[in-house]
Amino acid sequence: MSSIKQIPVIEEKRTNPLARVFDELVRFCRSRSLFLLHYCTGCGAIELPPAMTSRFDMERLGIQPMVSPRQADILLITGYVSIKTLKRVILTYEQMGSPKYVIGICSCTVNGGMYWQSYATAKKLDEYMPVDLYIAGCMPRPEAVIEGLQQLMQRIKTGEAKGWEDYYRNYDYYLGNQQKLFGNDWQTPTDVITEAKHYDLLGEGTLGEHTALLEQHQQPLEALEMRLGHQVKEPAE
Ligand code: SF4
Repeated sequence: MSSIKQIPVIEEKRTNPLARVFDELVRFCRSRSLFLLHYCTGCGAIELPPAMTSRFDMERLGIQPMVSPRQADILLITGYVSIKTLKRVILTYEQMGSPKYVIGICSCTVNGGMYWQSYATAKKLDEYMPVDLYIAGCMPRPEAVIEGLQQLMQRIKTGEAKGWEDYYRNYDYYLGNQQKLFGNDWQTPTDVITEAKHYDLLGEGTLGEHTALLEQHQQPLEALEMRLGHQVKEPAE
């Protein structure tokens, strides 16, 4: 199983000037209307309420909280991520519609922070999913959170926030690191390879030894059992 490797950067060239102007307009609008799902994994989450409420007022930037991954644009990871939690973080990330962005708050998401020696935490979040922006600190203050959000908005506007594309183009790398942590039979309900084809982002790194392993172990999802009208049996006396 491979460990960390250099991920190639893909340069995109638009030849039609009208398409370029349209892309810029779309990116500008997108950067001004963002729904944020905050996955409060660690103690850094404590600085989020002040960032959202009247003094710092995140909503003035066009960013507001969202409760469902399906409608969220930004996934905010607020601190250390235990191995069990990381599974839920990946499931959440894969449920979000693209384009989607990830912010890692706290030093614990960058390199493990004060839990760098713990057997129970994942040390570098960007080995398992693409992270568009880190806001380091233990814990970062609301000013830093607001500054980070503004930087992400700028990157979305200029088209630099391409982590979601990277996940499709280099899925085998991310999946390999996930398998290393969770075991070779790790799978999620999302068909990332089909999504990569849908977005025309099937790259050289999308398929590989780890996706082959996934196919080998993948179980078909079980249909949900319909329980309407289901009668609960009384226990026999
Ligand atoms: S960086 Fe500090 S505040 Fe943030 S999750 Fe780690 S220990 Fe907690």
